[in-house]
Amino acid sequence: MSSPLTFQPVLDRIAAEIEQTPGRGRPADYIPALAACDPRRFGMAVAELDGTVYGVGDWRQPFSTQSITKVFTLALDLAHEADELWEHVGREPSGNPFNSLVQLEYENGIPRNPFINAGALVVTDRLHTQTGDAAGTLLDFLRAESGNEHLAINEDVAASESAHGDRNAALAHFMAAYGNIGNPVPVLLDEYFRQCSVEASCADLALATGFLARHGIRADGSRLLTMSQAKEVNAVMLTCGTYDAAGEFAYRVGLPGKSGVGGGVIAVVPGRCTLCVWSPGLDGHGNSVAGVAALDRFTTITGLSVF
Ligand code: GLU
Repeated sequence: MSSPLTFQPVLDRIAAEIEQTPGRGRPADYIPALAACDPRRFGMAVAELDGTVYGVGDWRQPFSTQSITKVFTLALDLAHEADELWEHVGREPSGNPFNSLVQLEYENGIPRNPFINAGALVVTDRLHTQTGDAAGTLLDFLRAESGNEHLAINEDVAASESAHGDRNAALAHFMAAYGNIGNPVPVLLDEYFRQCSVEASCADLALATGFLARHGIRADGSRLLTMSQAKEVNAVMLTCGTYDAAGEFAYRVGLPGKSGVGGGVIAVVPGRCTLCVWSPGLDGHGNSVAGVAALDRFTTITGLSVF
């Protein structure tokens, strides 16, 4: 499609198609606070580089961002400590479920990438060391980039995560035994669960992701990441951002993306726009069924992909 392109008719068309699609998957049930979501909910937003936002359906409805926040903590930590992070976490797809423990032992407590839980725990730990307040730094950043001062952590969800967080605790303790965690594990887990429990809408998240389409430049024009770092984050999203289905996501959607078990997915068209879609029904890998389908339709209709 040629520019200028208004995205509204595209979004309206996608929402109408999704409405006709029967299967929606099932909401995450390992955290009781997420299990109650209606899988028929659907929202989608596109933000242009200048902050113009288009949306459809439940695009202003806040939802649990979950693993989507891993992109922002990665970017914030890179902005603080640059390449030193990569001595503590890798950049390869894991091919394992997001909360898997097995690889960590073979690989001496260095997680495969920053988007599996083990890797995200390392990133949050390091961001907490850098800032003294990892979850607060994340929240401030999301508020500033989205322009939404009301973004908040759902403390009930955080408590629910904590009450059902044995596996994350195991990952953190295991890595601490390898010397790859700097803060006390209970402190880290509290930061991590609060990070996962930030609530934001598709509009908020499409806007907050904008720096990755602007090659590292924040909404206020200041630079968060170098151009190379923005490229690196996008590359890790493409290869590792959608659990152990990143190959299928790249095949279908063709964009850097990151999903969360709350049913949200963000995606980046570098130099052009950012997207966020939300629908809480998940497939067996943890990706939103309608969300991935909608992004697939978006790149097919517009031709906007990185390939
Ligand atoms: N809070 C979730 C966990 O750590 C995040 C999972 C996800 O969205 O991938 O288990």
